[in-house]
Amino acid sequence: MDLGLKGKLAVITGGSVGIGLAIAEGLAAEGANILIAARGGDRAKAEASRIASSFGVTARGIGADVATAAGCDTVIAAASELGGADILINNAGTGSNETIAEASDEKWQYYWDLHVMAAVRLARGLVPQMKAHGGGVVLHNASICAVQPLWYEPIYNTTKTALMMFSKTLANEVVGDNIRVNTVNPGLVLTPDWVKTAKQLAGEDGYKAHLQGVADEAGGMKRFASPEEIAHFFVFLSSNKASYSTGSTYFVDGGWLKTI
Ligand code: NDP
Repeated sequence: MDLGLKGKLAVITGGSVGIGLAIAEGLAAEGANILIAARGGDRAKAEASRIASSFGVTARGIGADVATAAGCDTVIAAASELGGADILINNAGTGSNETIAEASDEKWQYYWDLHVMAAVRLARGLVPQMKAHGGGVVLHNASICAVQPLWYEPIYNTTKTALMMFSKTLANEVVGDNIRVNTVNPGLVLTPDWVKTAKQLAGEDGYKAHLQGVADEAGGMKRFASPEEIAHFFVFLSSNKASYSTGSTYFVDGGWLKTI
């Protein structure tokens, strides 16, 4: 099946590890050129050069903090140098751990900047590049927590809900420009970060049981997804095969969502 991605430029924030890296690899496997942005520029560059040699595409890694306006400008300029973006994957993000009673304004602001303002600023800079190409795709990696909150991360839950609404309203704004905008809400995805945290909590001997306990509590399939299982969805939504899909949110959560 030809997904029509050959030669497109895909910008993936947080593309140096985890779900973002799996998306970058999935798109590169379909012939897309890749721009990876992460704070850690060395890791982004190393992964980009591995992707370039594995898949025979152009791939560039840059150091940029997308929680800042300057970091977003760096991404927009790099995409322009590579000929302009066709696909933007807003994936950079991270969980939180706090109570509303105790979390500071600064913490709320940081997550707002990372999960929402990055998407706003990158849309402002990259949508014009897509328009110049006659169309494009913007995808947001939110979370099941955008609609089904976890008790220990109110800031994460709230900012991911805002990202979902941003995605919907951006979709409405650019629908006439042949730009499709959607959100994916993953459930549990086994990234190196989950493994690291589980090892810290339960030790080398106990971390697998700890992770299984988390999956059992979620229910549904009672297992974590691999990053690739989420990436396949992003690759499909990036492609022409999803040409009638815009303004939607898709759950990829192994049945964890408790509502219809
Ligand atoms: P990881 O922690 O594995 O990777 C996060 C990526 O984002 C890294 O490349 C990191 O690189 C980058 N990043 C983090 N902060 C910034 C920043 N300020 N500017 C630029 N890049 C940044 O995350 P996951 O793969 O687990 O998660 C990816 C997305 O998926 C997140 O938005 C997360 O909320 C969402 N998600 C994850 C789930 C899961 O179970 N794993 C479930 C549901 C949603 P660096 O540190 O070098 O900046």
